[in-house]
Amino acid sequence: MRSLDGKSAIVTGSTSGIGLGIATGLAGAGARVMLNGFGDADAIETMRGSLAQTHGVDVAYHGADMTRPAEIAALYEAALARFGGVDIIVNNAGIQHVSPVEDFPIDKWDAIIAINLSAAFHLTRASFSAMKAKGWGRIINLASAHALVASPFKSAYVAAKHGLLGFTKAVALEGAERGVTCNAICPGYVRTALVEKQIPDTAKARGISEEAVVRDVLLAAQATKAFVTVEQLGALAVFLCSDAGAQITGAALPVDGGWTAH
Ligand code: NAD
Repeated sequence: MRSLDGKSAIVTGSTSGIGLGIATGLAGAGARVMLNGFGDADAIETMRGSLAQTHGVDVAYHGADMTRPAEIAALYEAALARFGGVDIIVNNAGIQHVSPVEDFPIDKWDAIIAINLSAAFHLTRASFSAMKAKGWGRIINLASAHALVASPFKSAYVAAKHGLLGFTKAVALEGAERGVTCNAICPGYVRTALVEKQIPDTAKARGISEEAVVRDVLLAAQATKAFVTVEQLGALAVFLCSDAGAQITGAALPVDGGWTAH
C-alpha cells in the first residue's frame, strides 16, 4: 500500500521541470495524475505512458492554457470525468521575464500575473467545494523564495509570487475545518528550463557574463551553493499530501538552500 493509493491529482505545468518532478513523486506514491503544460505532442505522450507504466497508475494529459479560465475549468472537468474525483491540486505552471520595471513589457506583466497567480485561483475555485464536501483535500502552490524576498528586474514575478502566498493563506483558513490544506512551496533556484532561459537576460540586464550570473546572482544567496532538485520538491509534495502533513496549512515552506535565512 502506497501513501497516495486511490488519490487523484492535477499538476499544472507538469510537462517539464518542477511540475514533472512533482507529478513523478505523486505517481510514485500511488496517485493518479492529470498532466498539463505545453510541449511536443509525441514527447508528452511518451512521458505520460512512461509515468503510467513505471508507477502502475492512471496518468492522463490535458493541454489547458493557464491564461484562459475556461480552459482551466475544462482541465478540472476532464480530471473529474477520468478519475471520478480530484483530491490534490498542484498549482505549478509558471513563467518568468527579467527586465527593469520601466521597460517591463505590459503583455509579459499580464501573462505572469495570469499564469503564476490567477490560474491558481481558477483551479482552486473549481475544485474547492468538492474537496470540502469530501472532507479531504490538498492544495499545493508552487510559489518561490521570491514569495518571501525580492530581486531586482523581476517585478511581475515577485508580485505574483507574493500574491500567491497571500492567496495560499486565505484558502488555508477557508479549508481548515474541512480537512483541506493549502500550502506554498518556496524553492530557491532549481536548474529547469525556466532558469536556463533567464541566464542570458540577467547577464544582459546586469552587464555581466552568464557564468557570473550563475555564481554571483543565482547561487549568491543560496547558502549551500547548490541548486535545489525537482526530486526534493516531489518528495515534499508527497509529504504534504500524507497524513503526516494534515496539520501543515497556510505555510510558506522554503526549500532554498538557506537563501531566506540571510
Ligand atoms: P519550466 O519552464 O521547466 O516548466 C514550466 C511548466 O509550465 C511547463 O510545463 C510549461 O509548459 C508550463 N506552462 C507555461 N505556460 C503555461 C500556460 N500558459 N499554460 C499551461 N502550462 C504552461 O519551469 P519550472 O522551473 O519547473 O517552474 C515551475 C514552477 O516553479 C513555476 O511556478 C516557477 O515560478 C516555480 N519556481 C521555479 C524555480 C526555479 O528555480 N526553477 C524556483 C522557484 C519557483
